[in-house]
Amino acid sequence: MKKELNTEKLRFEDLHLSREMQKAITDMGFEEATPIQLQSIPPILEGKDVIGQAQTGTGKTAAFGIPALEMIDPENRKLQVVILCPTRELAIQVAEELKKLSKYKKGIEILPIYGGQPIDRQIRVLRKGVQIIIGTPGRVMDHMNRNTLKMNSVKIIILDEADEMLDMGFREDIEFILKKIPEQRQTILFSATMPQAILNLTKKYQNNPEFIKMVHKELTVPSIEQIYYEVKERTKPDILSRLIDLYNLKLSLVFCNTKKRVDELVGHLQARGYSADGLHGDMNQTQRDRVMSKFRKGTIEILVATDVAARGIDVDDIEAVFNYDVPHDEEYYIHRIGRTGRAGRTGRAFTFVVGREIYQIRDIQRYAKTKITLQKIPSLSDVEEIKTNLLLEKIKESIDEGHMGKYINWVERLIEEEYTSLDIAASLLKMVMGEDGKASPVQEEEFGDTGAAPGMVRLFINIGKNQKISKGDILGAIAGETGLSGKLIGSIDVFDKYTFVEVPKEHARNVQDVMKSVRIKGKNINIEPAIKK
Ligand code: ADP
Ligand code: MG
Repeated sequence: MKKELNTEKLRFEDLHLSREMQKAITDMGFEEATPIQLQSIPPILEGKDVIGQAQTGTGKTAAFGIPALEMIDPENRKLQVVILCPTRELAIQVAEELKKLSKYKKGIEILPIYGGQPIDRQIRVLRKGVQIIIGTPGRVMDHMNRNTLKMNSVKIIILDEADEMLDMGFREDIEFILKKIPEQRQTILFSATMPQAILNLTKKYQNNPEFIKMVHKELTVPSIEQIYYEVKERTKPDILSRLIDLYNLKLSLVFCNTKKRVDELVGHLQARGYSADGLHGDMNQTQRDRVMSKFRKGTIEILVATDVAARGIDVDDIEAVFNYDVPHDEEYYIHRIGRTGRAGRTGRAFTFVVGREIYQIRDIQRYAKTKITLQKIPSLSDVEEIKTNLLLEKIKESIDEGHMGKYINWVERLIEEEYTSLDIAASLLKMVMGEDGKASPVQEEEFGDTGAAPGMVRLFINIGKNQKISKGDILGAIAGETGLSGKLIGSIDVFDKYTFVEVPKEHARNVQDVMKSVRIKGKNINIEPAIKK
């Protein structure tokens, strides 16, 4: 099932680096090369010109830093590598990373040169012999004009964050520098974006460059809270419903791995009274458009989809993405969760993990360089606490937002009547939460709490495996006798001596009444609401 991405280990060991470099990389805690590193290091080591395009945070510094350091001749004290960066901060940062990478290499001198630092000191160090400089274009040019930097021995020039440098108006400086470096050189350019101005630059100054592009639009996902739950396959619908209720989610996108799973889940959710619909590859464009437009409007609150069908879904307000099934491919995970947390909003991504799928979660974390946190499945009694916490958070946010003059006036009116602010606040909270409590789907007044999923009632039947009863027998009997669609019947757990089956609350009474007088596999049964442990 897995694509190369998964099995292909991004090993630094395969890049034929020197022992010193390998050791430094290990010291830095890099376990695997990032994709841009894996693809850029070999051609740079071969002496080719390279254009590397990748987002921020993908490890571009080491992608050019590792091969550049490997290609330096430490016996030669002359300047060999020039790295241009847009800002002094970046120049310092790159210099620090290179120093770490060259930790075990003897005789390599690295110097950041940037404006705002006394030029005399830089000149003193340069005189001693430096093989790599990292600098802003302005200051580098300055040194060239003073003849304190001689470019005639330079073998490699690297433009880091080229797009940024052009935006900052360094084009002329860069061209000036490039023209002074011998033509028998390697020209490397890294950039997060590739506007025309950059392409012009590469045409003019690079020689048959290799273009390496790694664009994972949603690779960095800082504003998305990523959580996973260890679940059993059969409890997935319950847990999904519970989370949707708990977080009071208005718009969620749920991913399943197959279209069959999409259909099943849509059935489960609709049975529980959610406005859910599915999107999969078998639907024609008109059907899709209809579903999508309902989802956009919020008429559908839960959209269940396969990866392929969800391609191109672009809805801004998705509050949560559920990986109902763990994706087979790490990249899918990134694409999936990138659908929430859009436009600076915070989003949530929940992943359901069954058994050994936990290993896939580890792979995903490594690949996406992200952290997915294990959380306990919220029990029904956690609902109140979590809802309260969410409410308290909202209150804090609202206080931070301000604009409360009008309301403060009203509170003051009560205070003048000798109520305390504490009493007023508590009373308001009680009113707000009281209403919320009533709306909560957790309470199953008629049947008590049977431990079923929201909207469902768990029924106990006094026959099980010992009577050779299977799930199918139970499903068939209930559907057949009561006329309730099998799709509406929730989880069925068959134990040795008894069975639990969940049915929608509104049908529970009828199921119980009808089934009382029914025989399953020739046996009389007793059926009653389960009692939660
Ligand atoms: P970019 O220039 O693409 O924005 P950086 O080179 O600044 O990215 O790297 C971002 C962070 O990732 C740095 O802290 C760097 O040390 C770290 N990093 C780089 N390569 C790896 C790797 N292979 N494994 C783990 N961390 C890495
Ligand atoms: Mg960088």
